[in-house]
Amino acid sequence: MSENGLPHARDELTQLEDQLRQYLACPSFWMRFPAEIEQRYEDLRSPYRLRRFQRVGWISLILFDFLALADCHFLPGSYPDAWTIRFLGVTPLLCLILLILPRHWMAAWRNFAVSAALVIVAVGLAGIGYLAPPEHPQHLYFQWLLLILATNLLIRPHFWVALPTTLVLFAIYAFSVIFSLERGIAPALNALLPSGIVLLICLTAMRRMEQDSRITYALKTQQKINHQRLASANRKLAKEASRDGLTGIYNRRMLDDNLNRFWRHAMRRHRPISVLFVDADYFKRYNDTYGHAAGDECLRWLAALLESFAHRPLDFVARFGGEEFVLVLPDTTPEDAGIIAEQIRARVLSANRPHSTSMEGCITVSIGVAGGTPREGQIASMLLEAADKALYMAKKQGRNRVRYAAELD
Ligand code: GH3
Ligand code: MG
Ligand code: MG
Repeated sequence: MSENGLPHARDELTQLEDQLRQYLACPSFWMRFPAEIEQRYEDLRSPYRLRRFQRVGWISLILFDFLALADCHFLPGSYPDAWTIRFLGVTPLLCLILLILPRHWMAAWRNFAVSAALVIVAVGLAGIGYLAPPEHPQHLYFQWLLLILATNLLIRPHFWVALPTTLVLFAIYAFSVIFSLERGIAPALNALLPSGIVLLICLTAMRRMEQDSRITYALKTQQKINHQRLASANRKLAKEASRDGLTGIYNRRMLDDNLNRFWRHAMRRHRPISVLFVDADYFKRYNDTYGHAAGDECLRWLAALLESFAHRPLDFVARFGGEEFVLVLPDTTPEDAGIIAEQIRARVLSANRPHSTSMEGCITVSIGVAGGTPREGQIASMLLEAADKALYMAKKQGRNRVRYAAELD
C-alpha cells in the first residue's frame, strides 16, 4: 500500500480503477462497493461516524434531559415518573453506551450499540408518552420527531443500519400511540401519519446522501489513482532523463549538473575534488572484431566495474560518451584519486576480458586523473579538460596506464 492507501502494483491499481468505473457507471442499488473497496470506504468513514454518534449522542442526551422541564407542564400529575424514566432509565444507559463504545469494536457491534442507544431513547419516550394525558399528545410527537431527525440527519448511520433501526423506532412509537392515547383511530392516525411521512423523507434523504458520499469517494479515489500514476510516470521520466540508456549509469547531463554542484561545494569549503577520465583502449577494433552487440556488453561490464569504485556516498560514475567514462570523487586529493585510478586499471587488466586485436590481448583502459582544491575564477569544466589532457598523454604513451594532469591554474 502506498501512503495514500492505494495499492502499488499496477494490476491491482487497474483492477481498482475498473471497479470504480463500473460503480460510477451504474451505482449499486444496495449501495455496496466490491468487497475490497467497501472495506477501504468503511475504514475511512467509520471513525467519522463514531465521532458523530458520540458528539450528537451527548448533545441529544442533554436535550432529552432538558426536556424534563416540559414534563412539569405537560404531565403535571405524573412528571416524577417521567423524570424517573429520563434520569434513572434512559440517561444512565445512554451514558454507558456513549462512554464504553470503543473504537476498536467491530463495525457490526458498533452499529448494534448505536441502534440499541436509539431504541432505549424510543422506549423511554414511549414510557413518557404512556404517562402523557390525552390533551397533550404533542409532547410525545415533538420528541419523537426530534429523535427521527437526530438519528437520520445528524448521526447518519449506514443506510442499511438506519432503515431497520428507524422502523423499529417507528414500531415502538406506533405501539405507544395506539395503546397509550386511547382516543380512537383518528387521533392515532393524526399522530402516526405526519411522523411516518417525516420518516420516509428522512430515509430517502439518507439514502441519497449515502449514495452521494459513495460517488464522491469513488471519484476522489479515481483522482488519487490518476495522481499516483502521474507521479510515478514523472519519477520514471526524471530517472530516464538522468540515466544512460545502455549502461544505466548517469549520463552526460547528470555529470555536468552534479560536477558543477560538487565543484562549487568544494570551492566554498576549500576541499579537494578529483575526476578520473576513463577510456577503453582500442575499442573500435573490439567492435570490429567481436561485433557491436559484444561491444555494448563490454561497455555495460566496464560501467558496472567503475561503479564498484564509487565507494563513498557522493562518488559517482557517468558515461561521458562512447567508450569514455568519468568517475567523480568529491573530497579526494589527486594523489588518492591516482591510487583509485591505478586500482581500476589493474582490475580491468586482471579481468582478462579477451580483446585479440589490442596490445595486451585483453580489454584495458587508459585513465587521466585531475584534481585539486577549486579556486575563485575556476570552473568545473576545467577539471574535465585537465583530466582529458592527462588521458591523451596516457594514450600517447602506449595506453593501459594512468597519467596525472598538471595543477589547475
Ligand atoms: P583508443 O584506444 O585511442 O581510445 O581507440 P578507440 O578505438 O577506443 O577510440 P576511438 O575514438 O577511435 O573509437 C571509439 C569506438 O567506441 C568507436 C565506436 O564504435 C565505439 N563506441 C562508441 N560508443 C559505442 C557504443 O555505445 N557501443 C559500442 N558497441 N561501441 C561504441
Ligand atoms: Mg575515446
Ligand atoms: Mg578508446
